[in-house]
Amino acid sequence: KSFKDLGVCPELVEACEKLGYKAPTSIQAESIPHALDKKDIIGLAQTGSGKTAAFAIPILQALLAEKGKPPSPFAVVVSPTRELAFQIHEQFEALGSGIGARCIAISGGVDQMAQAVALAKRPHIIVATPGRLVDHLENTKGFTLRGAKFLVLDEADRILSMDFEKELEKIVSSMSWERHTYLFSATMTSKVKKLQRASLSNPVRIEV
Ligand code: AMP
Repeated sequence: KSFKDLGVCPELVEACEKLGYKAPTSIQAESIPHALDKKDIIGLAQTGSGKTAAFAIPILQALLAEKGKPPSPFAVVVSPTRELAFQIHEQFEALGSGIGARCIAISGGVDQMAQAVALAKRPHIIVATPGRLVDHLENTKGFTLRGAKFLVLDEADRILSMDFEKELEKIVSSMSWERHTYLFSATMTSKVKKLQRASLSNPVRIEV
């Protein structure tokens, strides 16, 4: 199956072609149709499987379909580490710059004031590590996740093994119930199951 067969819109099919993505990977082929069908997703997949584009493409397609002014942020991606946050951010930029998506990465180790200024410019996609995201929720005036339509918890098992449970709780509880949630994890631990129950509704489970 091609990206077009999965229901991906022409603008994003073109972005995939430009990046040299000739055909969807398994995780993409299995999750993109459900995501475009507005389902929550729990994906058991490793790094290298193409999971980033599996969640980035449906989010960008929803952003493109948004009538009027999209909320800021439109989507929040939580990542365990700064390095991974930057890589996810890069893929969102590569796939989304052609459709005018504005993305930023927010992590510790970078000046918080400069990030607050970047947040004030109302980006569509925020890719963040949990600690710094909570810092901004608590300290950056006017910054809220209330209007966001998507939450992605990437490498959830790693986030939880790094003791970010409290931060995740704060992030999830600061968001609307009407959002869609995608949880990706390499392993299904009891902590991941608990997080799944607390943050997803009727998810489709995909394993590759
Ligand atoms: P990820 O598992 O999301 O970290 O992706 C691993 C790598 O595969 C990244 O460098 C992506 O740019 C690349 N990639 C993602 N989807 C595809 C695809 N459909 N075809 C070829 N490469 C891809």
